[in-house]
Amino acid sequence: MVGTRPAVPVIDGHTDYLLSLTETRRSFLEESGIGHVDLPRARRGGIAAMLSAVFIPTEELPHHALIQTLRAVDLLKRVVAESNGQVELIRSYRQLVDCLDRGVFGAILHYEGAEAIDPEFTVLRLSYELGLRSLGLTWSRTNIFAEGVGPEDHGNGLTGLGRELVRQCNAMGILIDVSHLNDAGFWDVVAVSEKPFVASHSNARALCDHPRNLTDEQIRALAEKGGLMGINYCISFLVPGARTGVEVPLSVLVDHIDHIVRLVGVDHVALGSDFDGATMPAELADAAQTPKLIAELSRRGYSDDAIEKICFGNWLRVFREVWRE
Ligand SMILES: [Zn+2]
Repeated sequence: MVGTRPAVPVIDGHTDYLLSLTETRRSFLEESGIGHVDLPRARRGGIAAMLSAVFIPTEELPHHALIQTLRAVDLLKRVVAESNGQVELIRSYRQLVDCLDRGVFGAILHYEGAEAIDPEFTVLRLSYELGLRSLGLTWSRTNIFAEGVGPEDHGNGLTGLGRELVRQCNAMGILIDVSHLNDAGFWDVVAVSEKPFVASHSNARALCDHPRNLTDEQIRALAEKGGLMGINYCISFLVPGARTGVEVPLSVLVDHIDHIVRLVGVDHVALGSDFDGATMPAELADAAQTPKLIAELSRRGYSDDAIEKICFGNWLRVFREVWRE
């Protein structure tokens, strides 16, 4: 027994702590006042597992995409090695459930953009061996597979290679993530993917009109596929035009959850904080504050069963359906 299982364990669907560790040279295993996440703060917040994003800064593209990716994976593996059994790199559904039971922190490897992947999918296959279990097709940028949201969105969907990448991921048991993908690409994933897919850190566009958020039509399509949305705590995706210094109450976050639940039910919404990658509401200043969000859900009338689905059950269902083991 290396940890205790929190009352409601949280699977956080998107965090950028690997980037923060690289930039600040702090340790994941020691409490720090820097950034939003480290193991002690995650534990205090009841966070049992995290999708751990590998992000490649734009200035490193295209030539350093692969080495930057390998450096981030190496960093994560060193965190695991130095953790004395407190952190495991998750390779299977069974291992994840086991970690939740034992109170071991589960790190799930995610690439936030496919820039390191080659057209022959050599890097994809080897990345699976390294532990890759979730892939965003792009990070708001154009690459050989897709177009992102924002200025580089010219309305083009997935390329032929992008469609093939989705099929490869389906076959290999790698989850597809459409956060940061443009609308045309989203609909191509709906058409091509035979497995549930996720928007790991996106909110409802009906409440906050931002291209990083999903329209009601998209939310319905994602739910029909059996997927989920991880609610993003970033203030810019919660309140239109919100910037640093703008006070965004937790109730707004629950408004987004309410909206999605009213549209498609409670089986298709989860959490995807964007810790260490975005500006948080003051009440969610770091990972240790996560229980405040759970308390707000309870205050708003969500049952224990619904709260468990939002906090971890929906993520578990999707992983069980998508991963090969
Ligand atoms: Zn992101």
